[in-house]
Amino acid sequence: MKKELIFLGPPACGKGTQTDRLAKFMNIPHVDTGSLLRAEMKKGSPEGKRAESYISNGQLVPVELVAEIIKLRLSQDDCKGGYILDGFPRSLEQAEILEKLNADLDEGIQTDFRAIYFDVDPDVLLARIVNRRSCPACGTIYNVKYNPPKVEGKCDNCGTELIQRADDTEETAKKRFDTYYEQTAPLIDFYKNKGVLKTLNAQGGIEEVWERLKEVVGL
Ligand code: AMP
Repeated sequence: MKKELIFLGPPACGKGTQTDRLAKFMNIPHVDTGSLLRAEMKKGSPEGKRAESYISNGQLVPVELVAEIIKLRLSQDDCKGGYILDGFPRSLEQAEILEKLNADLDEGIQTDFRAIYFDVDPDVLLARIVNRRSCPACGTIYNVKYNPPKVEGKCDNCGTELIQRADDTEETAKKRFDTYYEQTAPLIDFYKNKGVLKTLNAQGGIEEVWERLKEVVGL
């Protein structure tokens, strides 16, 4: 059975950290459109250059750009046994694109499709964003207050100097929340109406949420 998991939730709800862990646990890829777009920006590709101004303004990048990126990624061999999507879909239009794409890629295959909504008190999220640091080499995420690296400023996994994402400033984060509530939050009802939504209480520490997540996913 091909496992298709969609992780939904506001910026900094903890889905990146948990997706990483769950993907390793289930041995399926973690597909994260934000990281795919940042990789394009780093390469200086035309797609990356196009995405840059939207990302730095906290807006969604144009749908055709992200649709192409996700199509290429989900068509790769390592996604044949399933995947966890983090950061896609982010609008009803993108959810419809995903349905069409899955209909093509999954013809004749049995699938188990679920959307997991990370439910968190919005008041804690802005503080999480401004304290967030990430490793540009391996993607590990830290929080300087609640989940700091063992050595200040260095990744525990690979020793690389940690960075603060350019869009993790207070001003851009506020715009990202507006974008989330306007365009992404309607997906909660969209998946609820299809009977595939599970809500995860994502409040609390990483370990607590991890234990609840395994239960919600049925592991
Ligand atoms: P994230 O790393 O998920 O917080 O994404 C960072 C930024 O990348 C977002 O604020 C958007 O500008 C852009 N982005 C990521 N995923 C998508 C998507 N599915 N659709 C449009 N823009 C996206």
